[in-house]
Amino acid sequence: MQAYLSQRVVTPGRTGPAAILVEVEQIRAVVGPDQIPAEAEVNDFGNAAILPGLVDSHVHINDPGRSEWEGFETATRAAAAGGYTLVVDMPLNCLPATTTVAALEAKRTAAQGRCWIDWAAWGGVVADNLEDIEGLAAAAVPGFKCFLIHPGIEGFTMVSESQLRAALPHVARTGLPLLVHAEVPGPIEAATQKLAAADWRRYSTYLQSRPDEAELAAIRLLLALCREYGFRLHIVHLATGLALDELQSARATGLPVSVETCPHYLHLTAETIPDGATLAKCAPPIRSHDNREKLWKGLRNRTIDLIVTDHSPCPPEMKRLEEGDFKTAWGGIASLSLALPLVWTDASRHGFTLEDVARWMAKEPAKLAGCPRKGRIASGYDADFVVFDPEAEFTVTKERLHYRHWMSPYMGEKLRGVVKATYLRGTPVFVAGGFPGGPRGREWRR
Ligand SMILES: [Zn+2]
Repeated sequence: MQAYLSQRVVTPGRTGPAAILVEVEQIRAVVGPDQIPAEAEVNDFGNAAILPGLVDSHVHINDPGRSEWEGFETATRAAAAGGYTLVVDMPLNCLPATTTVAALEAKRTAAQGRCWIDWAAWGGVVADNLEDIEGLAAAAVPGFKCFLIHPGIEGFTMVSESQLRAALPHVARTGLPLLVHAEVPGPIEAATQKLAAADWRRYSTYLQSRPDEAELAAIRLLLALCREYGFRLHIVHLATGLALDELQSARATGLPVSVETCPHYLHLTAETIPDGATLAKCAPPIRSHDNREKLWKGLRNRTIDLIVTDHSPCPPEMKRLEEGDFKTAWGGIASLSLALPLVWTDASRHGFTLEDVARWMAKEPAKLAGCPRKGRIASGYDADFVVFDPEAEFTVTKERLHYRHWMSPYMGEKLRGVVKATYLRGTPVFVAGGFPGGPRGREWRR
């Protein structure tokens, strides 16, 4: 038996001195420091905190088919370095897209022996796969993802309202959540038309091209459909703070809706993104400083449930760094290895605690993915945890990124909190900048 001792073990509802007792990949018990059994081998992490292994339910691994963008090895190593022990892959960007059981099986084959942490895959809901939805559920996907707007890549179609209406009875029958990219095309097309002659090197042009109204209209439609069809709705990467009141009232009426946002919306602001800095392009866009503070308020009043990375890398040339053109650059930010310090840097400034961070980044994403064994330090859970020094600071350098293409809008920033080690089912997968052992990750099937 192993005992992991720290002055700051973050368990549900409490942070304090404790020892985590681990046997055969699982947490047997969490006990007081004076209750460690004599036969246990003690690992004392002193004043560093131990948080549950983080869960990221929104990651684009791009594998199989576009592994030159990312891939299972690099994504899961970056995730291990960031304190994650489970990532759930989005169904687009890979080839084939995960919209059929055959595509899911191709993904399972591609992932074999290449993952440093555990993984799972969402299924896609697209314009023409109605008859695959229940099959994907039977093949153990934890839920589905769809887009109300062109996803920026060919091979994964958006759904119109009528196509979504046709799919929703199937989704509702599975009882699984439907994750939705909540922007509709109308307001974006109208805004973009007006910007035909604008300077697309300016961040403000890009921001104007994707107005809050596109998110608001999508969210209003989705809440109405949720009421009508009774499916479990999850809004991915909420960027506008203007939708929070409506989301809160919808939840107050008992609608099964959950909401996520991302580190970039909580850390960066439109006012500080330099013109030409396409590394900060993502969709929906990073909005104003005031908007960012609204999102933090949404976390405080629990309208926003969880924080995920939306790790969405691409080859460097697709970011058009030389031209700095926000119109043609790929939209997506990679941050698996930095998300915990990014969130902690701002969360601690806003008066939040490590327990809040563990709820946003471990417990709630595990719940969304329906995984009953991850996301908490408690008896019977997988022995997944991250050793985190919340007071240490570091400067972001390329060597800290670990994903395939070492680009980041955070390069050179000083962040608060250092991931010292990550344990997957009782075994270290990341320690002091290195990756001991081999790729031990498994698929988690619902
Ligand atoms: Zn995404």
